[in-house]
Amino acid sequence: KFITFEGGEGAGKTSVIQELSASFDQKGYQFITTREPGGIDIAENIREIILDTKNTAMDGRTEALLYAAARRQHLVERVVPELRAGKIVLCDRFLDSSLVYQGMARGIGLEEVYAINSFAIENCMPKLTIYFDIEPEKGLARIANNTGREINRLDQENIQFHYEVREGYLKLLRMYPERIVLVNADRTLEEVVAETKRIVEDFLEM
Ligand code: C5P
Ligand code: MG
Repeated sequence: KFITFEGGEGAGKTSVIQELSASFDQKGYQFITTREPGGIDIAENIREIILDTKNTAMDGRTEALLYAAARRQHLVERVVPELRAGKIVLCDRFLDSSLVYQGMARGIGLEEVYAINSFAIENCMPKLTIYFDIEPEKGLARIANNTGREINRLDQENIQFHYEVREGYLKLLRMYPERIVLVNADRTLEEVVAETKRIVEDFLEM
């Protein structure tokens, strides 16, 4: 039961996953939460390279390869073993982030990014993906008010980039309607959590 969470900057993925996790703990579900890029040491190290504000010279394809490398290591070292042990895996970002950020917003191409990622993941795909949708301005405004959040290289992108990210996710939603579910993230955390919980629990009961 591999479930991923996607969305643009400030959509609230991390907060919703935290709330979901507290609720799953109470219910005694066997699950883990993790994130990309990162989740294990090697991938967290790659994350630092990718997001380092000093690395402004990074080529788009280099970036795409690093994300794919971090993804593979996290998958083989953490996600797959947990799934084999029968656990639910809740992952903050996965393949769709690369398709959208590198493939579409950076303009490398969906097919190219899909190709390196299919090499990296060998068919291990989530069965359910929740996409948190919010207007870029609103998401970025939330981030500006969140002092605890780390500053990263992506914070230097212009608003157009973030619009392309949103368009990218909406395109994936049309391509994979059976896997990806849109949740309107422009509501209170309580409302977003309640709807997400409903969708995830319906899925787990199938
Ligand atoms: O999910 P989180 O906000 O922690 O992601 C860290 C940063 O990496 C974000 O700014 C996100 O936009 C960026 N990112 C990216 N391409 C990916 C995944 C994340 O540009 N494939
Ligand atoms: Mg986050």
